Amino acid sequence: MPALPPKTTRRNEQHRCAHCGSRFEVWHAADPLEAYVTVDVRCPCCHAQTPVSLPRSAEKDLRVENLPGMEPETGVVD
Ligand SMILES: [Zn+2]
Repeated sequence: MPALPPKTTRRNEQHRCAHCGSRFEVWHAADPLEAYVTVDVRCPCCHAQTPVSLPRSAEKDLRVENLPGMEPETGVVD
């Protein structure tokens, strides 16, 4: 049986932090046909734990990236 999968497909899902409202992407390589579980990820903006629904094996290999928000919180030039 083949030992290696042909390639790793990373998927990303967009979520919004329930605490500060900033948007972020959760990247993972898990199979979307797996059972989904609720995983607490850390908001890249305020570091609050935000529950998101992810395939079970995504939990051990996920990456959270900030997305440019619609409202800048600092550095407003006006
Ligand atoms: Zn946040």
